[in-house]
Amino acid sequence: MVRMGAVPLQRTNGIAAASERRVTLLGATGSIGTSTINLLKRQPDRYPVEAVTGGRNAAALAQLACELGAQFAAIADPAAYPVLKEALAGTGIQTGAGEAAVIEAARRPADWVIAAITGAAGLKPTIAAAQRGAIVALANKECLVCAGAAFMRTAAATGATVLPVDSEHNAIFQALSAGPREAVRRIILTASGGPFRDWPLARIRNASIDEALKHPNWSMGPKITIDSATMMNKGLEIIEAHHLFDLAPDEIDVLIHPQSIVHGMVEFTDGSVVAQLGPPDMRVPIAHCLAWPHRIQGANRLRFDQMINLTFQEPDFARFPALRLASEALRAGAGAPTVLNAANEVAVTEFLGRRLRFCDIAALVEATLDSSASHGLLGEPDNMEEALTLDHHARRLAQDLLPEIAAKTI
Ligand code: NAD
Ligand code: MG
Repeated sequence: MVRMGAVPLQRTNGIAAASERRVTLLGATGSIGTSTINLLKRQPDRYPVEAVTGGRNAAALAQLACELGAQFAAIADPAAYPVLKEALAGTGIQTGAGEAAVIEAARRPADWVIAAITGAAGLKPTIAAAQRGAIVALANKECLVCAGAAFMRTAAATGATVLPVDSEHNAIFQALSAGPREAVRRIILTASGGPFRDWPLARIRNASIDEALKHPNWSMGPKITIDSATMMNKGLEIIEAHHLFDLAPDEIDVLIHPQSIVHGMVEFTDGSVVAQLGPPDMRVPIAHCLAWPHRIQGANRLRFDQMINLTFQEPDFARFPALRLASEALRAGAGAPTVLNAANEVAVTEFLGRRLRFCDIAALVEATLDSSASHGLLGEPDNMEEALTLDHHARRLAQDLLPEIAAKTI
């Protein structure tokens, strides 16, 4: 196996036959969790479930734990524990609550762990899975933006395998196997452009929550749906690609592709461009990671007869300042991506809570980055703890800046 850090690059010939793979789902109750469970239920003997975790919805988590025959169920919010405990009493399924229980779920002996918690809250459990050398199917991009260098170092040191679930990165992962690393000229991440792709800036500024939550192609959790509307999602994905594939900022490009059929492309030095195509259904990349290096049934087939055209255009940094900010944060390096991610998490929560306008999301992120720079808070976090400390500082700064940003006239 040729490896680049923790992400395997090329398949070996003569892969052993598919065997049982014990799985754990971090973020089982979410959108990625639900898509994963849909695949697991088709082959329960091949994919027995060790542990499931959820944020707050204990009733939903308990039901999933029973359906999947899990050994352990952990709920992050301790206030939800009595509901979980009662629902699973007498089933033989062990239960736990709080951050430590979610980390314990990641530490339990599963071969394959899907990291599908939203936000930097997923960092500690995801690193815990990597620390014991598991196969980590990584959906939680914020974890790489917050502490990418530390995460990838941990995975490389322990021999953990990191498989990208994010559709664009999964596409790149598949396309990279078409040639040697030194022959890669650049990669291209595609972006649907979100619901405001063709909106004028003046209209985007005051977009409502309902408008921002209406994604044209993908059905996803609320945080990533808002990130798609601001295009911060693509910005986070540039940083994610940098860490996963060890690429320089200039080697990562973004193209708007409204149809969401071509998920990612790799351009090689000989001029060949290798792309991965698939329907916009997360079961495709999840199935790829679940069975890797084998293949299983994922989602419906692409219907080429129903595809009128596939189009591509350059992104507009002026209408989508979040994309510009993320690009700049990657180039600035050190602590900038950590601060960008933390401020964005605060901004999205505040927007969904109706305390910020849509255009304030990027404005708050920019103000937090500027303020962090002037407080000398953009140093490189050397490990996960330092990244989380910086994340907390940045959240506090963003909270402090909120009233000023919200009060600005636009
Ligand atoms: P979601 O909101 O639907 O689900 C998030 C899960 O995390 C839920 O199980 C929730 O209960 C849990 N959770 C939330 N806060 C938590 C906390 N503090 N501690 C522990 N658990 C917590 O989100 P999603 O759309 O499934 O996305 C999950 C991750 O996958 C995100 O990082 C997202 O960027 C990434 N991703 C999602 C998609 C998609 O299509 N949904 C695509 C690519 C990448
Ligand atoms: Mg994506």
